Amino acid sequence: MVPYYVWVAHLQWKSRVLLDKFHRWVVSWFQSDGSSARRGACMRCGACCKIIYQCPFYTEQADGTGFCRIYHVRPRPCQLFPRNPRDLLSVPMCSYWFDDGGRP
Ligand code: SF4
Repeated sequence: MVPYYVWVAHLQWKSRVLLDKFHRWVVSWFQSDGSSARRGACMRCGACCKIIYQCPFYTEQADGTGFCRIYHVRPRPCQLFPRNPRDLLSVPMCSYWFDDGGRP
């Protein structure tokens, strides 16, 4: 049996990730690209496409890499991800990093 405090910690984590996702979705439409300090390249792990739920346009190729079926018209929050070090808290395995904040 899983102790209650493990469930509480899990719910806190999920709540924070959900709030971050909602915040990112809203802010991305109104702010300019804030990712000038972003470094690295996408390794197509697909983790950002599975935050809270898996995007219906996400699929995996035979070699295991992620693939977006609407990549060229994907929504702005997806285009800009990750915009800042806080975004990386939701996907610690992401291959991007930031000059001005490093990894959170
Ligand atoms: S989590 Fe980072 S490395 Fe993985 S697919 Fe998303 S942007 Fe690319």
